[in-house]
Amino acid sequence: MNTPISNPSTLSFEFFPPKTVEGINKLRETRSQLAKFNPEFFSVTFGAGGSTRDRTLDTVLEIQKTGLDAAPHISCISSSKEEIRDLLNKYQTHGIKRLVALRGDVPSGEASAGDFRYAAELVAFIRAETGDHFHIEVAAYPEFHPEARTPAADLQNLQRKIEAGANSAITQYFYNADSYFRFMDQCDAADIKIPVVPGIMPIYNITQLARFSSICGAEIPRWLKMRLEEYGDDMASLRAFGIDVVSELCETLRVWGVPSLHFYTLNQSVVISKVLENISE
Ligand code: FAD
Repeated sequence: MNTPISNPSTLSFEFFPPKTVEGINKLRETRSQLAKFNPEFFSVTFGAGGSTRDRTLDTVLEIQKTGLDAAPHISCISSSKEEIRDLLNKYQTHGIKRLVALRGDVPSGEASAGDFRYAAELVAFIRAETGDHFHIEVAAYPEFHPEARTPAADLQNLQRKIEAGANSAITQYFYNADSYFRFMDQCDAADIKIPVVPGIMPIYNITQLARFSSICGAEIPRWLKMRLEEYGDDMASLRAFGIDVVSELCETLRVWGVPSLHFYTLNQSVVISKVLENISE
């Protein structure tokens, strides 16, 4: 069994970089609410091709100024080595110590030209350029990445990212805890020892969740989809039910002994705060 770390209450929260003044203010409020749960770090996403480069940097630096650890995501698709080098220099200069290194998805209608094809190449580049300066997180997929040829090929890809220098992994979200447990069995069999932290997606809205899932291949189990659809426009009941479902998932994962939990916050705190209160009772 993959070894659980000693502190099962470790948490991290993921934000996207806001575009508007209103979004920036809302994120400040969200961050201060979630800071109460003493997260290990906050991470900030990065638009493929560098579309959020400056906003990701600004958001990360603002978090860091509050004394909390911030981890920028870097996605490499459509980027040149020079652009990534420049970004790494900026992060090093500002004292950032953790990165989430990804391939990213090419926005539809755009060319995928760039110096990197896969995240493993980005991880190797970061290590070659900056040695051991950064703790590098990579993505893992308990229900497998939609482009993976086979589950075994996807696991080999995780191994390549580790061999290139990744320290830990965060998973795509899932609602079926067994998919994570079975994935961890495969990791054990492949002698993968790094922490593989479950990524948790709160349930805010069925339309949005179905759209995310169709892109990233994370399954919404039939029973869950049908129950959520049944709520129709009754968002309050849908959210209350979603809080129960996600709390149970987190509790099951914690009892099993996961190394940590990483929440995809979508820059909101209320639902996640309720989940965390439920599982701390
Ligand atoms: P890779 O590890 O490169 O894998 C991509 C696919 O290629 C997989 O199917 C893999 O099996 C296959 N593959 C890899 N190497 C080879 C090879 N040599 N030959 C054949 N096939 C190969 N996206 C963003 O744009 N910005 C973000 O900030 C962001 N944050 C994320 C955070 C987390 C925790 C997660 C789980 C995902 C995030 N994503 C983000 C989405 C991610 O970029 C997409 O899932 C993307 O499609 C794959 O990224 P990856 O790093 O897993 O790619």
